[in-house]
Amino acid sequence: MSEGAAKKEEKPRKFQAIRGTRDLLPPETALWNRVEQTAHEVFGTFGFGEIRVPIFEPTELFARAVGGETDIVSKEMYSFEDHDFSELEKLRTVLVFRSPDVFNAHSISLYRNQLAEFVKALEAGLKDPEKPIPATPDNQRALTDLQAQTNSIELMLQDFKNTPQVLQRFDLRVETIRQTLRVISFGDVLSLRPEATASVCRAYIEHNMQQLPQPVKLYYMGPMFRRERPQKGRYRQFYQIGAEVLGGGDAPAIDAEVIEMVMTFFDRLDLQGVQLDINSIGDRNCRPKYVELLRAELLKVKDKLGPDSQRRIETNPLRVLDSKLESEQGIIAKLPRIADHLCEECATHYAAVKHQLEMRGVFFRENWRLVRGLDYYMRTTFEITAQGLGSQNAVCGGGRYDGLVELLGGPPTKGIGFAIGEDRLILSLQESGKAPAQQGRDVYIAWMGERAHATAIRAAKDLRKAGFSVELPPSEQKFGKALGQADKLGAKYALILGDNEVSEGLWTLKTLADGSQAKYTEPDLLEHLRKQKALKL
Ligand code: AMP
Repeated sequence: MSEGAAKKEEKPRKFQAIRGTRDLLPPETALWNRVEQTAHEVFGTFGFGEIRVPIFEPTELFARAVGGETDIVSKEMYSFEDHDFSELEKLRTVLVFRSPDVFNAHSISLYRNQLAEFVKALEAGLKDPEKPIPATPDNQRALTDLQAQTNSIELMLQDFKNTPQVLQRFDLRVETIRQTLRVISFGDVLSLRPEATASVCRAYIEHNMQQLPQPVKLYYMGPMFRRERPQKGRYRQFYQIGAEVLGGGDAPAIDAEVIEMVMTFFDRLDLQGVQLDINSIGDRNCRPKYVELLRAELLKVKDKLGPDSQRRIETNPLRVLDSKLESEQGIIAKLPRIADHLCEECATHYAAVKHQLEMRGVFFRENWRLVRGLDYYMRTTFEITAQGLGSQNAVCGGGRYDGLVELLGGPPTKGIGFAIGEDRLILSLQESGKAPAQQGRDVYIAWMGERAHATAIRAAKDLRKAGFSVELPPSEQKFGKALGQADKLGAKYALILGDNEVSEGLWTLKTLADGSQAKYTEPDLLEHLRKQKALKL
């Protein structure tokens, strides 16, 4: 190989953000900050307090809250086993993946020794008083099975016959051992959060928030993780801003106020083309009966439905109403509607929510096909769409989930909340030209000479203290170059500090937009800039 080729091969790998994740860069991050700041302000005026929950939780929490059969839990979570037994795990990997490929007394005896070593460590780990391996039934059973396997390999080796039958039996044994090894779990199975409602409810229970004045009103913001197929407006790491109201009853005014709060937030951001859809999906009384009716009706037209909807007739008939398939629209339009099948309590609640929204001047559209993807929703559901998002135009989804806290082991607690897709919200703001322009520096300090450098450092400190954004170049530049640089950075002013300026005590300020120049004493300069800033010049 030539030296050149060798060098080429050594080139370090260039890393890229993982598919479905992305870097948010300035100036776009300024918009993210503005959106988040607005959320803090608006939600604060509705009496909501911020909660920050961990990025990962036991997988079981999400499985229970979101529903084991949902796409989110069954295929989209990033899960991993969390434990301190890396050595043991390595040994297991060796035993699972590198069992002897040539069978003879020597290789089998090596395999036995490794297995015995693993069994000993597993036994010790299960009994460790400080940080034990969880003594789950699977783990206990695996220990007993592996002990028995080690002993019988030992016996086999004492009277070893190298016949095909013996070796074949050993081969089968290795496969059984592999399967046993695989069921052992060294610690908790955790997942990156695919949403935050489950965590907020977990925190409500964990911190006995039912003892606080009810309802408890919380909001959160941060990244969520779902292994979905990436496309515009759909990422694997995406951001949500959400809020939950827990406890204190299910008065329709609570539902209406939560919705009013999101709409106020969107209004404050001047989000364009906002459309609020609402529905009631009943409760444990009436929904199951409706679902059965829907299933029966869907079965009658099964042949005319696509494969996804056909499957959903069994798994979750409500989701058929979500279908965007053109060929199914005519069929869906004729299906029974839940509004006609709500029990009296749900119907009264729904009517009152609508009335409450009207009292608040919140415009809505009733959409009987609006069913939420997550299992725990009941009664009020809502979705908000916005402009410029193509097919992924839902920017917020929410609803009531009265049984969730109880499902997670807490006291019976009413709950309602929403989650806004922040990525989509930002995208929509950008599409409609609502993104703020890049913020340039206020002042670029062009300095030359050692004495001027010292003055420039002091000037930068004072200007920054007064709230101006200042660029202080780290090394001396010719004035021409410095002014060019100031222009590129979008600076409003260049403060020119050379030997003359420093000895005279008169500083030159150049306004870059029109090229005009004037001299100021140090205090006058600060005063001048303050006045200009107040005038937004
Ligand atoms: P959900 O938690 O599924 O009800 O989603 C609430 C909102 O989060 C949706 O309306 C979307 O705006 C947003 N969202 C959900 N999944 C994604 C994703 N993979 N990428 C970007 N935004 C998402």
